[in-house]
Amino acid sequence: MIEFESVSKTYPGGTVAVEEVSLTVPSHRTVVLVGSSGSGKSTLLQTVNRMVEPTSGRVLIDGEDVRSGDPVALRRSIGYVLQHGGLLPHRTVIDNIATVPVLTGTPRRQARTAAMELLERVGLAPAMGRRYPAQLSGGQQQRVGVARALASDPNILLMDEPFGAVDPIMRRELQEELVRLQSELHKTIVFVTHDIDEAFLLGDEVVVLRERGRIAQRGTPAEILGAPADDFVRDFIGAERAERKLSTVEVDGRVIAVDGTGRPVGVLAP
Ligand code: ADP
Repeated sequence: MIEFESVSKTYPGGTVAVEEVSLTVPSHRTVVLVGSSGSGKSTLLQTVNRMVEPTSGRVLIDGEDVRSGDPVALRRSIGYVLQHGGLLPHRTVIDNIATVPVLTGTPRRQARTAAMELLERVGLAPAMGRRYPAQLSGGQQQRVGVARALASDPNILLMDEPFGAVDPIMRRELQEELVRLQSELHKTIVFVTHDIDEAFLLGDEVVVLRERGRIAQRGTPAEILGAPADDFVRDFIGAERAERKLSTVEVDGRVIAVDGTGRPVGVLAP
């Protein structure tokens, strides 16, 4: 469990990025922080692995203040995936994945074997392991980023717009892959995005943020869609947008869901 207790962060220069945010992330769930650019999502996320130190308030993991130990050890114990994977360009994919385990004392051979298994877990062929990051597509690099974050078998995975820079089709694949992976791994995932559809797809729970990390609403996707807390949330999720006004039509005995503009979006299961 991750607990944010009245977390505030004012950056040097005076920008108040988050103000008095209190939030609990239950273990083994995916909680998505969603909000416009600049609403403080990344700042909040980075207080968990101490990339950012709060100006006031504290963050607890399983009841323990993250500041109670060594920040480097903390970072190595938490998976972290960023929009631009941050892979080491001069190391092969396998060595990138094995970096943290080797640093923390796993024999290289064992770390590489484990890395090969992870490669497969994230849907990449073993041969990819010998490549360098520049020889992979954006989507493949993000898969490696996920594998690397999982390499130390962390309880917590922090994901900061990890699929933001890939094309929509690849993005969809990566999202579905993450849902599948999480159904096997049951990590505690905090995922940051500005994309409400991504939030609804991935989140067991979704936290809609206003400016300065103020929580506009928190709930399951169905709760938020079904009962937006206020106009801000309603606007943000696009509840009034035509594409969410779904209805159904029947064609040859099959029920087709169509959006507000009449475009088919899928076939309902019988
Ligand atoms: P989000 O992830 O929702 O886009 P951020 O947490 O990145 O929001 O940023 C929140 C606010 O803090 C923004 O106004 C941003 O410009 C500011 N900010 C973020 N990082 C820094 C930094 N290192 N120094 C100064 N201001 C920052």
